[in-house]
Amino acid sequence: MEIYKTIWNKILDSEKIAIISHLNPDGDALGSSLSLYSILKKIGKEVNIVNVTSPLPHFLDFLPNYNEIQNRVPEKYDLMISCDCGSFDRLGIEERPPFLINIDHHISNTNFGDINLVEDAVSTSQVIFRLLKDIGVNIDKESAICLYTALVTDSGNFQYDNVDSEAFEMAAELLRCGVESGYVAKMLFERDRVEKLKFLSKALETLELFLEQKVACVEITKEMFEVTGATKNDSEGLVNMIRKVESVEVAMVLREEEEGVKVSLRSKNYVDVSKIAVKFGGGGHIRASGATIKGKGFEEIKNMILEELKGEL
Ligand code: 5GP
Ligand code: MN
Repeated sequence: MEIYKTIWNKILDSEKIAIISHLNPDGDALGSSLSLYSILKKIGKEVNIVNVTSPLPHFLDFLPNYNEIQNRVPEKYDLMISCDCGSFDRLGIEERPPFLINIDHHISNTNFGDINLVEDAVSTSQVIFRLLKDIGVNIDKESAICLYTALVTDSGNFQYDNVDSEAFEMAAELLRCGVESGYVAKMLFERDRVEKLKFLSKALETLELFLEQKVACVEITKEMFEVTGATKNDSEGLVNMIRKVESVEVAMVLREEEEGVKVSLRSKNYVDVSKIAVKFGGGGHIRASGATIKGKGFEEIKNMILEELKGEL
């Protein structure tokens, strides 16, 4: 594809490259950016990998080059590549880069780059994989682990509706590049901390069901983290957990934060939760979206979202 070639040529023409992903990174954000980092280093580029979040999620610390991730943008660079980020503000940086390539798969992406490679895909790593295959770049084991981890996490372990044969073919090819799927699964899913379970038990006590039990809601306070010793990252899986209730179509988690209330939305079959998140200044995908709402309490936010959901269920 033409755009892949344009991007690759831009990379080849650049001296110093900064790769960045969105705030509060998930497996796709770090996996896709680290895969590119590893590949660009191997072709001899001077590359920095950046994510301004601190601390970074512990469950991803097995990714090759995780320790290379810096929490600020380098002084000088000519090209920035953002991975898995739907809007410029989610990068957490002030200054516009000299040139920005935006690689993503969020339908709500605002096309904030100078070049925007925003495709319908299970993960951003799938978009990068398509690009690498098209150009004919060799995928080494390091980058394969990153691409695969991003695919596994953003596809909900290959469980989401958008998973198709292309996703499984990509997984198969990455296994042939040396990825051990059992190892990645253990690293991702079998390293919880006791503090996390204690936190989940507290948070789940707040579980409420609304609108004929089709909406599940949990509220997380700062205090729950303080008393259990859990961290924000420990709360990430909770929204998927409450969607598991059979009657539930939409799961929502409200989390008290410094800046406001972080809302996470997930749907199971038919509600487009990205539409709702966009209404509140956020974004995301049809089945997973989020927003941060300022200056309002849990009750008010819950009621606003339930009001939006009424017409959708
Ligand atoms: P999560 O609920 O896991 O934080 O986010 C789910 C999805 O919604 C992710 O794809 C994430 O990128 C997107 N998302 C979450 N919060 C925001 C936000 O504040 N703004 C935008 N644009 N997208 C968000
Ligand atoms: Mn993603």
